[in-house]
Amino acid sequence: AKGEGKNCWRFFTPSMLQATRERRTVISDFTLALKRQEFEVYYQPILGYGRPDELKAEALLRWKHPQKGMISPAVFIPLAEEVGLIHALGDWCLKRVLQDQQKWQAEGLPCPVIAINTSAKQFTHDDVARKWLQALRDSGASSDQLVMEITESLLLQRQTEVLSQLRTLREAGIRIALDDFGTGYSSLSYLSAFELDYLKIDRSFVQGIVQNSKDEAVTDAIIAMAHKLGLEVVAEGVETLEQEEVLRRQHCDFAQGYYYARPMPEAQYREFIQKQVKV
Ligand code: C2E
Ligand code: CA
Ligand code: CA
Ligand code: CA
Repeated sequence: AKGEGKNCWRFFTPSMLQATRERRTVISDFTLALKRQEFEVYYQPILGYGRPDELKAEALLRWKHPQKGMISPAVFIPLAEEVGLIHALGDWCLKRVLQDQQKWQAEGLPCPVIAINTSAKQFTHDDVARKWLQALRDSGASSDQLVMEITESLLLQRQTEVLSQLRTLREAGIRIALDDFGTGYSSLSYLSAFELDYLKIDRSFVQGIVQNSKDEAVTDAIIAMAHKLGLEVVAEGVETLEQEEVLRRQHCDFAQGYYYARPMPEAQYREFIQKQVKV
């Protein structure tokens, strides 16, 4: 591990994976990594600009490779999708979040609502809705503790099956967030065709809202439209107070970003919740 300080790891980047032999090694390591407990769930707090309730954090996977150090999810998630390991990884992540929530509750802490990323592949080759409901039953958790983050690419494919799984989840009380809105194949028709609860504005728009009046107009329009459709909005990648000021003025509901907190390990996030309780 190439640690440069306590919580500071140098990421193993995609370009380093271009050599096929390197790639093959990583894939075979991957299959063992789950058994060896090399994955970890980090939590990044989400802040409410209005009512300080609901959505509290996003779960983000980390792979602490024994030789290569921290491997970025931007590298291993696409790889996991490609080799079909995304299902096992997704199951593991879901269970870990439910266990962590149970642990916090046992310590007398309030149970924060956690958003979990799902990849489109988990819908196409898997009955992800059934798995989520089963995991909730097994752990005795309440469905309003979880939010499922989906991406636009999911909404492009196998419409009827995706629709029915999303409906099953929502009827059971699990809320759905559309992640990375504004990137990729963004189509406004998704917003009326699918039943969603939250819309996450991608970091690339938030970045420019202070300097660029066009970016500011885009986020303003997205937030107003989302509200008309009954959705709440989460701004991603907020890094400065100036960005926060613009977003608050535009009545954005939630924000997430380095300005507030970086993704952190469970122990550190638990302290974060404890501090909030004391305030
Ligand atoms: P994402 O879902 O868009 O997650 C947000 C990413 O932005 C995270 O990167 C987070 O650390 C980063 N971020 C948050 N605030 C800021 C900020 O203020 N500035 C900047 N520059 N970045 C910020 P991370 O943790 O490296 O994750 C990358 C991607 O990997 C995620 O993007 C998500 O698509 C995927 N991913 C992570 N965990 C999972 C998982 O459990 N399942 C699936 N399917 N995908 C995951
Ligand atoms: Ca996400
Ligand atoms: Ca995102
Ligand atoms: Ca993103």
